Amino acid sequence: MLLFTPGPTPVPQNVRNAMGQETMHHRTPEFEAIFEKTRKHLFNLLKTDEVVMLSSSGTGAMEAAVINLCHNTLLNVNSGKFGERFGKIAQANGLGSIEIKNEWDTPVDVEDILETLKNNPNIDAIAVQVSESAGGLRHPVEALAEEVKKINPDIMIIADGITAVGVERIDVGHIDCLIAGSQKALMLPPGLSILGLSNKAVEKIGSGKGYYLNLASEIKKQRQNTTAYTAATTLVIGLLEIFETIERDGGLEKLYDETSRRAKAVKAALETIGLHVYPKIPAPSMTTIDDVDASQIRTLLKENYGVNVAGGQDHLKGKIFRINQMGLISVYEMAWVVNSVELVLNEIGRRKYDGSANKIFNEIFFNLKTNS
Ligand SMILES: *Cc1c(COP(=O)(O)O)cnc(C)c1O
Repeated sequence: MLLFTPGPTPVPQNVRNAMGQETMHHRTPEFEAIFEKTRKHLFNLLKTDEVVMLSSSGTGAMEAAVINLCHNTLLNVNSGKFGERFGKIAQANGLGSIEIKNEWDTPVDVEDILETLKNNPNIDAIAVQVSESAGGLRHPVEALAEEVKKINPDIMIIADGITAVGVERIDVGHIDCLIAGSQKALMLPPGLSILGLSNKAVEKIGSGKGYYLNLASEIKKQRQNTTAYTAATTLVIGLLEIFETIERDGGLEKLYDETSRRAKAVKAALETIGLHVYPKIPAPSMTTIDDVDASQIRTLLKENYGVNVAGGQDHLKGKIFRINQMGLISVYEMAWVVNSVELVLNEIGRRKYDGSANKIFNEIFFNLKTNS
């Protein structure tokens, strides 16, 4: 079965092997050496002033960011389930909470953010997804951050990059916290989350908030290549192997370029066979299709072609399907996925199969390469 859900993503065989070795104790020079190397790779990936790894799924890092970087009121952007989660985290922690809500296909309007800030001087942090995985859209995070910082550089910008870090280069010039998670673009099992922090964020964190999620305790320890509590050793070992695999494959820039071409090629291939891309501004992490037959298409993809894609949640349940584009993906697998979608459309009597999806996919994927 080809796993093409936008999280979890498949774990490469060599990475599974690396994680299958004997248990390593976390307070040893051997593990500290691995931790140090992984940390260096993370600085290179995130381009932030500080980095911290946590043993938690992505939501743990979201909560750590909110409690440590917001001391008054959080403004969260809700264009989907993950954006909504930031507001719930603020409320659960007794913080003020203001939300800008849009339909799940609509990125936030920077003007709406600026207007909301004007009317709510208590807002001291803004939380937004880079790529909102609920509908597969890309928010204008970099532009938003730049405009906010012009008005008030003390407002913390928290960017959830769980389906964006490792997918595309993110300009962190005006971002205070960039979050990543293991089971999406980083091609690992779930359980490790990562926060990249600006110097300004580290300053605001001070002595930190919370206990397990206190970022001050972690920053102090991780600068010494250890962790405050037991590290997720297996996942850190896996992450180092991921970085070395990406390097062997040609490096991050090549991965970003391939992901971008893959995203464009999949989108064009599916549009060619009459499907509609859901978000107004799609993120390169996934292609989301809204379709009356979404549910049936998903089932047939799985049963007849061995392709597992994700559906939708809440009001989009049964109305969309989402195809992953994150990670090191073989071209022949991606080509098979779009071909399978076309075969399914033939099967349900929507369109006669003529191989167009595969043709367009290959044309765009390989032509963009020779032209660039
Ligand atoms: C997957 C995901 C998360 C984190 O979810 P967990 O289940 O806690 O790992 C957060 N934000 C986005 C955009 C995601 O795609």
